Amino acid sequence: MGVGGEGIGKYEGMTFFIKDALIGDTIKARATKLKKNYGYARVEKIIIPSPYRVVPECPLHRQCGGCQIQALSYEEQLAFKKQKVKNNLMRIGGFAEEEVDAVMLPAVGMEYPYRYRNKAQFPVGYDKEGNLVMGFYAARSHQIIPVKDCLLGVKENEPILAAVMQWMSDYQIPAYDENTGKGVVRHILIRYGFTTKEIMVCLIINANKLLQKEALVEALRQIEGMTSISINSNLEKTNVILGKETQCIWGMPYITDYIHLRNTQDFSLTDTAIAYHISPQSFYQVNPVQTEKLYSTALEFAQLTGKESVWDLYCGIGTISLFLSQKARQVYGVEIVPQAIEDAKNNARLNGITNAQFFAGKAEEVLPEFYEKSAGDEEMRHPDVIVVDPPRKGCDEQCLSTMLAMKPERIVYVSCDSATLARDLRILVDGGYELKKVQAFDQFAHTTHVETVVLLSKGMVD
Ligand code: SAH
Repeated sequence: MGVGGEGIGKYEGMTFFIKDALIGDTIKARATKLKKNYGYARVEKIIIPSPYRVVPECPLHRQCGGCQIQALSYEEQLAFKKQKVKNNLMRIGGFAEEEVDAVMLPAVGMEYPYRYRNKAQFPVGYDKEGNLVMGFYAARSHQIIPVKDCLLGVKENEPILAAVMQWMSDYQIPAYDENTGKGVVRHILIRYGFTTKEIMVCLIINANKLLQKEALVEALRQIEGMTSISINSNLEKTNVILGKETQCIWGMPYITDYIHLRNTQDFSLTDTAIAYHISPQSFYQVNPVQTEKLYSTALEFAQLTGKESVWDLYCGIGTISLFLSQKARQVYGVEIVPQAIEDAKNNARLNGITNAQFFAGKAEEVLPEFYEKSAGDEEMRHPDVIVVDPPRKGCDEQCLSTMLAMKPERIVYVSCDSATLARDLRILVDGGYELKKVQAFDQFAHTTHVETVVLLSKGMVD
């Protein structure tokens, strides 16, 4: 299977990439596109099903672009993800197979891999017959597949979508049309606090002002747990979902959620929990159960005793930083979005944490600045641990070279893209670090995405 979950098969020596075919299937396929040495094909008939094939829970799994590998047994999904990380470390990172096998831990999966997402963004539009639809995009397209109850999301989404749909038809509020740029309602963003059961709804609109918003509020506030209702204006012709301006129209401008520290032996819950305020624009991990396992492991990898100074780069609203601050002497967080830094500072206050400091800016600029200029402050220039959790594109080279120059004892790399992770690990290892532990976490069951946590230690070379 390829990185996108497509099956890779052979016909008369030629390689074909086939959506919805699984490893171990024998299939009859129809070629859809031929290149010189390879081609693409579609499943016509499954002749001998793979032993790993299961009946997917969701009837829309083939049409909807949200899931790619729901027909693969969950155990095999985990094996596939571990293998994906391993392949990238070897192919892109240039690590030897023995080297990778020696440090790779088993992938951490979920007990129940459904209903795990705390956030959903439903596009709103019209189908070919002109009916109002809300749901998810089909794979590689902007055709909206109507989805009432996505099995990856919470049950609470369904009545919210129904209420917005009713309100739109009652007041003839038009959906946004991507082609003409006309119409109003673009997306419905819903967030759910798993521990607090608080709900946030944010309607993304192609307007500065929403008509009939009182009626919308009236309908939504009836839903149990409703805590925050807002509108976000996005007037641009763009695929980016949120615009810059968000206005709270009812309740709080955020919801609160807790992340518990887990015991990393069996991932049982501990009494330590940190509260976070989450606003519509903030980045917040979408799978809270797995996030607790992920952050607890990152914290364990950091091996803190209470004396350390730690940088947390790409810190978002301070989620990992505040975890680290419990066990470190001082934590410094860096994040590019100023609003997220404001949230991080508030979250520190909310939890009575005083040993975390936050800086707004690019990691690749803030870090060198402190390294070069704050010559007096050795703690900042030579931290004991650096934690990074970059977006998919990975770390900037300038950021990596400054990290190497700072010579921390340990680097903990949290990654949502194992290809850029492999690229960056090569640079860190060539710079004198040793790969100690690599563990994949399944944050996104039934999709091909995989999250990874890596521990690097300063080697003998200085
Ligand atoms: N550690 C946080 C956020 C991780 S997501 C958490 O676990 O919740 C990655 C974050 O990196 C996002 O918040 C994004 O805004 C931020 N980011 C993207 N590019 C950046 C850069 N060049 N420098 C610093 N932060 C950046």
